[in-house]
Amino acid sequence: MDDQPINIRALHQVFSEDHEVFMAMNGKDAVAFCERTPPDLVLLDIVMPGTSGLEVCRELKANPFTADIPVIFVTAQDNPEEESACWDAGAVDFITKPINPQTTRNRVRAHLTLKRQADVLRCLAWIDGLTSIPNKRQFDERMQQELRRCQRESIHLAVAVIDIDYFKAFNDTYGHLSGDDCLKNVAQVIHRCMQRAGDIAARTGGEEFTCILPGLDPGGAREIAERIQQAVSALDISHAHGIGNKVTVSVGVGSVVPDLEVSAESLIEKADQMLYAAKHAGRARVCVG
Ligand code: GH3
Ligand code: MG
Ligand code: MG
Repeated sequence: MDDQPINIRALHQVFSEDHEVFMAMNGKDAVAFCERTPPDLVLLDIVMPGTSGLEVCRELKANPFTADIPVIFVTAQDNPEEESACWDAGAVDFITKPINPQTTRNRVRAHLTLKRQADVLRCLAWIDGLTSIPNKRQFDERMQQELRRCQRESIHLAVAVIDIDYFKAFNDTYGHLSGDDCLKNVAQVIHRCMQRAGDIAARTGGEEFTCILPGLDPGGAREIAERIQQAVSALDISHAHGIGNKVTVSVGVGSVVPDLEVSAESLIEKADQMLYAAKHAGRARVCVG
């Protein structure tokens, strides 16, 4: 981002061959662009009419959706106060104008490498290592977001808790490695049953998975839960001590239009009670509350 076309052109020449480059000529456009399509790195001019580069950087850092984008300042003057202001605004580096193409390219390359590594780590922290679907941490975070959204919009929020039937016996019979394979296959099947934008399936326990289904009333949530239950049966994984000699799941569903009294815990608790009811009624079935 730079208000001078000539500066933008110079940077474009350095990067256009190896990178996808986007340009903005004022602070407002730059912030809007970063929120819409977060880039891997921002090169930012400091002195501009309207919103200054420092202000843009502070705005990006204050927004959780753009806070992780590294910002490098491209500055004309070099004085200690200004350098200090860049660091305070949250910059990872700065480059002085007129730019040295080789230095600029190498600085940017180094910061892009760090960004890629940080992205991988961030991703790992939210994904279950065995099944590669969202983990408990991501589930908890999303559950809070969806609960607030459904409260605001006065729409249903459904939760489905899925537990593999007689899984201890499966491990005892076929071994822990086969158990792990079974978990991976079941997780993928559940994951594929999530179809709407806000839906998410997470591994929330050893052989337990939980789905968040925003906007689904008890009837709609039952449909998805039954689809999951049948899809797991259709995997047709042999289980000598299972229902019908194969791996099955029991599913408990809770769905409410949440008012401010409803907590994530209370909704999950309701789904858990329904899971218990499904187990008690003979397993390989869905119970909705
Ligand atoms: P129920 O039908 O009542 O759910 O019986 P269950 O045997 O499935 O339930 P229980 O809670 O007694 O046993 C769960 C088993 O899940 C025990 C544990 O060894 C197994 N398990 C949990 N996490 C993993 C895992 O990561 N890998 C494997 N292979 N097994 C796991
Ligand atoms: Mg269990
Ligand atoms: Mg079980």
